[in-house]
Amino acid sequence: MKLLAGVVRPYAWGSRTALAELRGAPSPSPHPEAELWFGAHPASPATIRGSDTDDLLTVIEGDPDGQLGANCRETFGPRLPFLLKILAAQEPLSLQAHPSLEQAIDGFERENAAGLTMDAPERNYRDPSHKPELVVAVTEFDALAGFRDPRVTVELLHRIDAPALAPYLGMLAEQPDESGLRAIFTTWLTLPDAVIGTLVPEVLTGAIRALERGEDRFTLELRSLLELGEAYPGDPGVLASLLLNRVRLQPGEGMYLAAGNLHAYLHGTAVELMANSDNVLRGGLTPKHIDVPELLRVLDFHPAPMDELVARVRSEGAERIYLTPAAEFRLSYVELDVDGPASSIGFDMPGPQVLAVMSGRIVVETTGGETVEAGPGDAVWLADSDPDVTVRALSSATTFFRALVPGLRRDG
Ligand SMILES: [Zn+2]
Repeated sequence: MKLLAGVVRPYAWGSRTALAELRGAPSPSPHPEAELWFGAHPASPATIRGSDTDDLLTVIEGDPDGQLGANCRETFGPRLPFLLKILAAQEPLSLQAHPSLEQAIDGFERENAAGLTMDAPERNYRDPSHKPELVVAVTEFDALAGFRDPRVTVELLHRIDAPALAPYLGMLAEQPDESGLRAIFTTWLTLPDAVIGTLVPEVLTGAIRALERGEDRFTLELRSLLELGEAYPGDPGVLASLLLNRVRLQPGEGMYLAAGNLHAYLHGTAVELMANSDNVLRGGLTPKHIDVPELLRVLDFHPAPMDELVARVRSEGAERIYLTPAAEFRLSYVELDVDGPASSIGFDMPGPQVLAVMSGRIVVETTGGETVEAGPGDAVWLADSDPDVTVRALSSATTFFRALVPGLRRDG
């Protein structure tokens, strides 16, 4: 058992207040703070409080069987299978999708065979793993995710007062299905710059006119379009955003992004749990490398209704468990109150586990009598070799997220 300090990733789209306030640091922070990582990813492993030298990666590499358990190591290799992040978006993130396991293995081998170095800017596949993601809103959280029912998208495009949009609208109206979505998306992403340069401004002007006509069911969609158009003028991703579900998660709501799901986070604070991979294929809304043919290979154009995206939840006492098909991770959210009926909870599943505190204070006690205290911005690492634990609230309104690997056996 160890007390972890998360590592801040200072991407430009980050908030200057959300993560600073969570950890009790001066707010606003001098630089944007986009993500707080609690994991063992080589790029930013969590540090161990009270130790000058060790980080979680070093600890795991020094004792994979004790930290992960032999069962976890045999299934996922000698590394933590998941990465837990708190994400605070002030500005939209890139439009992206992640490959399936088969696509990742194939892509990684192809790029190795082509002689691309690991840090080459045009590399898409930095490892042979897939990257399913679960995002759970901490504040109201806005995103684009999954292709909307194309018949509804046709209505949205009709609302926009832009004659230049007509031929594309026709493509989707005549074929309001997966094939139509593939056709219009592919066309938009491969239009010559000169065409995009006139089409995007015309669409934005049309959207402004639509908004001026008054509120309707597409107000949120049109506002996001304008926001993206302002941030990324001349980017075909602005048009592509029109094809996706405009998602607004309420605190506690989660969304599961399977392989091939096209998505972009827009605004808000959320916890994200994902398989430990860096494989991202971008489709726009970013100055980073974009590989359209490769993105088209991995994208899932099957329309994704909202109730397929939102993760179902099972409650077990004070714990709300997000149900996903991911083999690498399971996320749950626990609410305790020192004076309430649920002031403590016992965990007896095998590790590895990370408990990330969002509010209040917890003390984690093993059956062996060892204790660790943690507050917001800290996390507690539970190794497979640790005995079972009880987590007790030290204050009212104590909340934390719990990440673990599902389905492991207790070894030995
Ligand atoms: Zn993603």
